[in-house]
Amino acid sequence: MKKDLSNIKKAKYLLDKNHCVAIPTETVYGLAANAYSDTAILKIFKLKKRPKSNPLIVHYCKAEDIKNDCELNSSFIKLYNKFCPGPLTFILKLKKNSKISKYVTNGKKTLAVRFPKNLKTEKLLKSLNYPLAAPSANIYTQISPVSKKDVKDEFGKKIKFILDGGSSRVGLESTIINLVNKAEILRLGGIEINKISKVLKKKLKYNRSKNKIQVPGQSNFHYSPGIPIRLNAKKQFSDEAFILIQKRKRFDKNYFYLTKNKNLKEAGKNLYNTLRKIKNLKFKKIAIEKIPNIGMGLAINDRLKRASKR
Ligand code: AMP
Ligand code: MG
Repeated sequence: MKKDLSNIKKAKYLLDKNHCVAIPTETVYGLAANAYSDTAILKIFKLKKRPKSNPLIVHYCKAEDIKNDCELNSSFIKLYNKFCPGPLTFILKLKKNSKISKYVTNGKKTLAVRFPKNLKTEKLLKSLNYPLAAPSANIYTQISPVSKKDVKDEFGKKIKFILDGGSSRVGLESTIINLVNKAEILRLGGIEINKISKVLKKKLKYNRSKNKIQVPGQSNFHYSPGIPIRLNAKKQFSDEAFILIQKRKRFDKNYFYLTKNKNLKEAGKNLYNTLRKIKNLKFKKIAIEKIPNIGMGLAINDRLKRASKR
């Protein structure tokens, strides 16, 4: 307990000095910095090699903390009460006098906000007098990290501190909902779209094209282990690692299982882990069995589709 507190203090100390610190969240580990500081935010883009045109999600502890930065609305309040803290990101209207760095939003009039669920990160946020911009703690287009070890794997000694909060429980990025005009889903993720629809009492559209990042040639390519991925595979070739949705009786050293019994939430939690493991084992190719396109399977298939683009 004492050690946890001193680690949170260390993270605060570095963040206060405009450094980047990796933080644990239930989705994936984030590369965090003071969202009010241009200097700190530019360090995120540099470390990640992320194009500045790709805006960042800002992390807060509680709904009331966002009041100086963006406009709340009734849909936000309903969804916040149901799902937060949790894997849901809201796009809201940025307030004119907000202190959010222009580099966070890439000059947009909207802001992406999230309330992560992780005790250490929540404590850290509470101790700060600014929110944290935090994209995933990986090099741009690579696999997102779901543990302290993964962050080290991505950045080595390039980041000053990683706050260890165990492995990420959801293991996939947040669902993004745009609440600026008509509510629409911009990214599939940790909260299923039909659960959000139920709370808002309306059908929601997944508008992928709106969320496309305008970076030439790279908008689709993401979450990549850097080797070819073959989707919907029925069997594997001898040079492929084969990712299966469920454990099989027959054993092959090239088999990697996402779940014990086809639970799609469990598959989501294990996806990035498994891709990273295969990459580190130096396989040259991956084949993956068809993942049911329902529930969390929708978000998993979205990530796989992008990871398989080259
Ligand atoms: P991530 O790549 O997980 O850090 O998520 C960031 C994504 O959130 C961006 O690529 C955008 O799609 C979305 N986003 C972040 N900020 C904004 C914003 N101000 N307006 C609209 N979308 C945003
Ligand atoms: Mg990312």
